[in-house]
Amino acid sequence: MTSAVKRFFHPVQSCLILSLIVLACGLCSCRSVPVTGRSQFLLTTESYENSLGAESYEEYKAEYPVSKNAEYNAALARCGNAIKAVAGADEFEWEFTVLDSEIQNAFCLPGGKVAVYSGIMDSMANEAELAFVVGHEIGHAIARHGGERMSRSILQSLGAVLVSAAFNSETIDAIYGTGTELGVMLPYSRSNESEADIIGLVLMARAGYDPSASYTFWRRFTNNAEGSSKLESILSTHPCDSDRIRAMEENEPMAREEYNKAPTKYGFGRTFTRKK
Ligand SMILES: [Zn+2]
Repeated sequence: MTSAVKRFFHPVQSCLILSLIVLACGLCSCRSVPVTGRSQFLLTTESYENSLGAESYEEYKAEYPVSKNAEYNAALARCGNAIKAVAGADEFEWEFTVLDSEIQNAFCLPGGKVAVYSGIMDSMANEAELAFVVGHEIGHAIARHGGERMSRSILQSLGAVLVSAAFNSETIDAIYGTGTELGVMLPYSRSNESEADIIGLVLMARAGYDPSASYTFWRRFTNNAEGSSKLESILSTHPCDSDRIRAMEENEPMAREEYNKAPTKYGFGRTFTRKK
C-alpha cells in the first residue's frame, strides 16, 4: 500500500470498503417496476427480501390474534384473491390475514404477506375501499420499495465509510448522518407512496373494483382533525395530503379503462357496517 493510500485508508477500512464494493457488484440488479415501468437499482435479492418478510409476518401473527370477524375475513379473502390474480407476482407465497387490533393500518411485506388490522376496516365503507388499501400495500411489495430502501441504506453506509476514512472528521460524520437520517428513516418516500397509489389503483381496477373508492376512503380522513386522529397510525407510515388525493382522481379515467376490461366486476363489493 502506498503512503498516500495509507494516509486515507486504514487497512481494516480498506478491507471493509473492498468487501462492500465486491458485495454490491455481485448482487446489484436493475429492473422495471411493474405497472409504472420505472427503472430501479437494487443491491438486495428478492429472495432475501422475501425471507425477511416471511420472518416479520410470523412475528406480527404471534403478537396479534387473528380476527374472528367473519365479514372482514371473507372480504379480505375475496379481494385479496382477486388482486393476487392480477398482480403478476407468481413467485410470492401469498397470505392474507385480518389481525384483531384497534390499530388503523395495513401492510404487505415482501413476498406477499398481507395483514390488515380490524381497526382500519372499522373505518371502511365497503370492500372496494379495502381493495384499494390492499392494492396500495401490494404495490409497495411488487415495486420492491423495501429492497430499494435497504439498497439506499447500503450505499449510504458505503458512503459513510468512505467519507470517514478519507477525512477522518467527526464533523463530517455528523453532517452526513443528518442527511442519511432524512433520506432513509422516513417510512416510505413520497414518490414511493405515489407509485404505490398508481399500482394500487390499477390492481383494484383489474381485480374488478370501482376505482373511485380509492379516494372516497382518503377524502373522509384527510385534511380534517377528526379524520387525521382516527387514522393517525396509517397516516404516519403513509402520509396523505390533497395532492395525493388529486392524483388518484386524475388517474381514475386510466384505471376505469382497466376496470371496464375486468372479466368479473364487484363494483363497490359488500357494504361494511362501519363502526367509525
Ligand atoms: Zn404506502
